[in-house]
Amino acid sequence: MADREPETLAVMTWIIDNPFVLSANLHGGSVVASYPYDDTPQPNPRGCCVASDGPDTALFRRLAAIYAQGHAFMHRGEDFCHMNERFAGGITNGAMWYDVPGGMQDFNYVFSNCVEITVELSCCKMPPESKLLTEWKSNKKALLDYIEAVHMGVKGLVFDENNNPIHGAFVGVEGIDHNVTTTERGEYWRLLLPGEYTLVASAVGFQAMRASITVKDGETSRHVFHLPRRSDSSAPDSSSDQVAAAIAGGAFVPKIGPSATPPPPTVSSSTASPPTKEPELAQTLSAEFVTPPDWQHHDYASLESWLRDLATRYPDITRLYSAGVSVQNRQLWVLEVSDNPGRHEPGEPEFKYVANMHGDETVGREMLLLLARYLCETE
Ligand SMILES: [Zn+2]
Repeated sequence: MADREPETLAVMTWIIDNPFVLSANLHGGSVVASYPYDDTPQPNPRGCCVASDGPDTALFRRLAAIYAQGHAFMHRGEDFCHMNERFAGGITNGAMWYDVPGGMQDFNYVFSNCVEITVELSCCKMPPESKLLTEWKSNKKALLDYIEAVHMGVKGLVFDENNNPIHGAFVGVEGIDHNVTTTERGEYWRLLLPGEYTLVASAVGFQAMRASITVKDGETSRHVFHLPRRSDSSAPDSSSDQVAAAIAGGAFVPKIGPSATPPPPTVSSSTASPPTKEPELAQTLSAEFVTPPDWQHHDYASLESWLRDLATRYPDITRLYSAGVSVQNRQLWVLEVSDNPGRHEPGEPEFKYVANMHGDETVGREMLLLLARYLCETE
C-alpha cells in the first residue's frame, strides 16, 4: 500500500467506506462502454484481445449497453476514432480491448459491493469548447438512464430473529459466484437481470437461509431475511458452512496494483454527430438550466467554484466534501446530490459517477459538472 499515490488510496477508501451500488467512470480517447474485468488471470503478453469474463458478465454487458444505447451514437459501434476499433453495440470487455491490471472498475467489483463500468466519451480527449454542447446533447440521456439502472434487481435486509440487523452478512445468488455483504443496518442491494433466482443469506453464527425471487424488468424486487441463530455456534453446521463458503469463495481476483496508463489514442477532433448550428443549439440546451452554462473547459480553480456555487445555491439537496487530497495537494471533490444530503437513507441505493481521473480527458469532467447542475436545477 505504501507505494500508492495518495489519491489512489483516498479513492480506494472512499469506495470501500460508502454503500455504493452502481457506478461509472468517465474517460476519453475513444467512444465505448467497457466492463470488467480489465485484468486477466494470467499475464497476457499481447496486452489485449482476450476476454476476461467474470460471474456477472451478462449483467455488466446489459449495464454497458444501457449507456451505449442512451448515447446519441456510441451504440452504433463504428470506428469513430479512426483507430480500426469497432465495438459491437458500443460495448467491450475491458481486457478484450486492452489489459489494465489494477484498474478502478475491477477494484469496485472485487473489493466492494459496487459494480462499475468505464465509459470513453469522445475520440478527442480535449475537444474544442464549441463541441461541449454537442457532447451534452449526446450524453444527457445516457447519463440519466444509467443512474436509473441502480434499481434493477433485488434489495432487502438481513435480520436476526429479533429484527436486529446483521452487519457483514453475505447475500449470494445460486449460480452466480459473487456475493454482496450487508451494511451496518443489514441492508443489501444485488443488481440482477430479469429472471428467477435463489438468494442465499448467511452470516457467522447464524443458519443460512434461501429465498426464491423473481426479478422483473423495471421493478425492484425485495426480500427480507430472518436468520435463526445457531443453537451452539461452536458446533459446525456443515450445510450452511458450505453455502457460506460457496458464496464467499472462488471468485477470480485480479491483481490490484497502481493504475496503469492506457495507450495514447490517436487524437482526432472529428465527431460522428450531425452538424447543428451552434448558436441555436446553445440556446436550446442552455434553456434546460436555470443558470445557463458557460460551455467551457474548467480548470481546477473554476471546477471548484462551480461546485461551491451549486452547493451554496442548493444547500438542502447537496453536500460538497473532499474524499482526500492528491499528490499535488488538490482536494478530490465529491458533490453529493440527495434529498437528504449527508445521511444514508435506509434502503436507498447509492450511485456514483467519477470523472477527471485523467485530467486531460475533459469531456467526462464537463458532463458531470453539467449533470450536477441539471439535477439540482430540475429537482
Ligand atoms: Zn482515461
